Amino acid sequence: MNTQHNRTAIVTGASRGIGAAIARRLASDGFAVIVNYAGSAGAAEKLVHEIETAGGRAITAQADVSDADAVARMFNAAEAIFGGVDVLVNNAGIMKLAPIGDSDDALFDSQIAINLKGTFNALREAARRLRDGGRIVNFSTSIVGLRLENYGVYAATKAAVETLTAILSKELRGRSITVNAVAPGPTATALFLDGKSPELIERMAKMNPLERLGMPEDIAAAVAFLASPDGGWINGQVLRANGGMI
Ligand code: NAP
Repeated sequence: MNTQHNRTAIVTGASRGIGAAIARRLASDGFAVIVNYAGSAGAAEKLVHEIETAGGRAITAQADVSDADAVARMFNAAEAIFGGVDVLVNNAGIMKLAPIGDSDDALFDSQIAINLKGTFNALREAARRLRDGGRIVNFSTSIVGLRLENYGVYAATKAAVETLTAILSKELRGRSITVNAVAPGPTATALFLDGKSPELIERMAKMNPLERLGMPEDIAAAVAFLASPDGGWINGQVLRANGGMI
């Protein structure tokens, strides 16, 4: 259903995983999509080709979200090519797990740089530049509610993202821009699957009463709702998309 003609969406971390599913979904809903990536140029270009072949509009944009200048350049490119930005999906993120006692500085600094500063860098540009009526969707995690061992630093970066979400939703008063966060549960992407045994994956998949892992498309559907006219009355909220795990 193409309801979003002439609207543009930036999706950070869209080369793979949940971000790629969001880019596909928003493009099929009619958005022109900026497929942001850090290192996976080939995957991002392949996705843009796929979107164009299906009749959609998309471009790639390399930018490490932890680099504020690179994020500003990505917004410049979106404005130059598509005339403005209406939707920001702050999806790029990394996850490194360890007990707090075993966490080194690199584990802490990299997650702060990408998950928190990266989200902030794009939020700052969006606060300045998003067209009235726009939408911002940040990415948290249901682990903020579950508070599992080993997730301390990762969950802390996402709890901070939830706080930025609520406060920015108020700061954008008067511009008809909504700011929300989606907080997935375990979802079948490299971020979740890599380094876990089949038994652990199975156990975590069964933590929700629907008894399966989330798929990237499940999360993309929640984002598409928040970005759509139907989602327009939801503002400043965290939507846990996890099959009922918490
Ligand atoms: P993923 O499969 O590992 O994909 C991560 C994406 O982020 C890739 O496209 C990657 O691009 C990009 N990225 C990483 N660092 C970046 C940087 N510095 N600048 C720009 N892009 C960067 O992860 P995912 O599972 O789809 O996760 C997406 C979001 O959902 C994350 O915020 C994550 O915390 C959240 N989440 C995931 C789960 C889950 O179970 N999967 C659960 C809860 C929340 P390159 O390939 O170019 O590096």
